[in-house]
Amino acid sequence: MTEVRLAARAKAVLDQLEKTYPSDRPLLVYHSPYQLLIAVVLSAQTTDAQVNRITPELFTRFPDPCALAAGDLSEIEAIIHPTGFFRAKARNIRAAARALCDRFGGMVPDAMDDLLSLAGVGRKSANVIRGALFGHPAIIVDTHFARVNRRLGLTNQTDPARIEREIAELLPPHRHYSYSMRANYHGRDCCFARSPTCTNCPLRDLCPYPQSQGRPLE
Ligand code: SF4
Repeated sequence: MTEVRLAARAKAVLDQLEKTYPSDRPLLVYHSPYQLLIAVVLSAQTTDAQVNRITPELFTRFPDPCALAAGDLSEIEAIIHPTGFFRAKARNIRAAARALCDRFGGMVPDAMDDLLSLAGVGRKSANVIRGALFGHPAIIVDTHFARVNRRLGLTNQTDPARIEREIAELLPPHRHYSYSMRANYHGRDCCFARSPTCTNCPLRDLCPYPQSQGRPLE
């Protein structure tokens, strides 16, 4: 398929996703940039719901970056224990908080390089923060996003950086974040890894996957 036709289909997919999922707000609960940053770091290898269960206590005890930076590691570990990998995550969030205090005046930076310099923040997390907090163009590649886009035939790549590049070329920058969040929701709600519910999918007329599986839709 030519790039032009792929781009037209990507736009049609996003138009439909925007009707299906009215909000593009992260599923992580947060009330400040600091809280989103920490929640995103904690969300590695666990569910957003699990993070949302422990962050109220964490942010009550450590209400700002400098409080967390000065926090006792064992106390932080005890609070975040249910999110898994709690030792590494406790070290990371305390180090990231310290960097916010020491290098960024207690603020969350918006530049990609600055975000990537924070402990526990990779490109996916940095893109969540850039898109959700600052409105920057952001293609956020996680397992749901990658799966949905491969099934839609918008990329064949498996490497996150390549997926990010290819999808970014199909949509105008101001729609990147919207697409990222809604494709992610769609992967969670409908385009499941094991058994996508294609028959009820709002994207079924735009998606080659059912036919490719020998399952033409009625
Ligand atoms: S039609 Fe099926 S494979 Fe395609 S996006 Fe919908 S659920 Fe996923």
